[in-house]
Amino acid sequence: MSTAQHAELFAPPARSDSRKNLIGLDRAELALELKAIGQPAFRARQLWHWIYFRGLTDFAAMTTLSKDFRAELAKHYVVERPGVVVDQQSIDGTRKWLMRFADGQEAETVHIPEEDRGALCVSSQVGCTLTCRFCHTGTQRLVRNLSSAEILGQLLLARDTLGEWPSPPDGRLISNIVMMGMGEPLYNYDHVAKALRIVMDGEGIAISKRRITLSTAGVVPMIRRCGEELNVNLAISLHATNDELRDRIVPINKKYPIAELMDACRNYPGLSNARRITFEYVMLKGVNDSPADARALIKLIEGIPAKVNLIPFNAWPGAPFECASDKAIAAFSDIVFNAGYASPVRTPRGRDIMAACGQLKSESVRKSKAERDAAAPAA
Ligand code: SAH
Repeated sequence: MSTAQHAELFAPPARSDSRKNLIGLDRAELALELKAIGQPAFRARQLWHWIYFRGLTDFAAMTTLSKDFRAELAKHYVVERPGVVVDQQSIDGTRKWLMRFADGQEAETVHIPEEDRGALCVSSQVGCTLTCRFCHTGTQRLVRNLSSAEILGQLLLARDTLGEWPSPPDGRLISNIVMMGMGEPLYNYDHVAKALRIVMDGEGIAISKRRITLSTAGVVPMIRRCGEELNVNLAISLHATNDELRDRIVPINKKYPIAELMDACRNYPGLSNARRITFEYVMLKGVNDSPADARALIKLIEGIPAKVNLIPFNAWPGAPFECASDKAIAAFSDIVFNAGYASPVRTPRGRDIMAACGQLKSESVRKSKAERDAAAPAA
């Protein structure tokens, strides 16, 4: 019996009307919507403030807007969050939500509180295509990409729950965002980018690019663009130092092998000692945890402003690996550290509620075309 709190909450029933959700629209799109209902574009800024700075969902409470405008908004639009199916809290304070979106698909989001800050781990897809051998999400097929509204919705819901409105200037429970939940963010780049731009907007949620980290298993052709357009911190799920092993445990390596990945890292825009790439390295017993592996890693990242985040393997039912021993992890970390790279060992958080790195999964499955057709209402 786990000590975790566990609550089952049900998502609000799907809306049957055709009102549009304003969440996830950028400023220009919001202005266009207002124009469409005969309102001047400048009102978009006032609305933005209510939605993203104050966190309101009820137009009636947006008191700086005229009564007529509020009524008009409510006729055509909603400000909607995902539903919550399960809300669990770990003994270490980590909290995990299983969120449900309008079409019934589900994904997980995790809050990792620390003493004076906290990170929200956000999902970018329902399921994943990558099939990394050590990752639980990798056992779930890709169901679909999340929209910008759904990516953002995870943060809005977490802030609702933690009572973090209006956007506090400092001392935030959610001070950092890590795109490290379910899915590969660079395979859903447009929606992720749109959501992150809204997160970074200074008149709303206002979390700076320095506090946002996007983690990728190595979608090489998208890395430069991510740096140029978003300029967020980059984390690379490396996990192996030669193609033979990486092909096996991170199969995207067959498409974009290590040398190409390292080139993309070297050329990531804006790199400096103050702004380093994080290389994530999951410690698997007898697979990639030897001193020779540590030395190969140093050689690989030579010349890249980098730090190495060692992640003790988090187990899940049926996982074909074991976590490296504490001793092996410490020895590995020392070798990397002595070569001049920060090499912290990531403290596992939320393991008791399956909220730690690589443990996320939802029951959502992709239906076959025949099943989807059968479920669709007859035309
Ligand atoms: N697809 C992206 C985003 C997921 S981030 C990426 O691969 O970077 C999740 C991080 O947890 C990745 O570094 C992933 O490799 C790591 N991870 C996956 N399974 C794990 C496990 N069982 N134990 C520890 N870390 C794991």
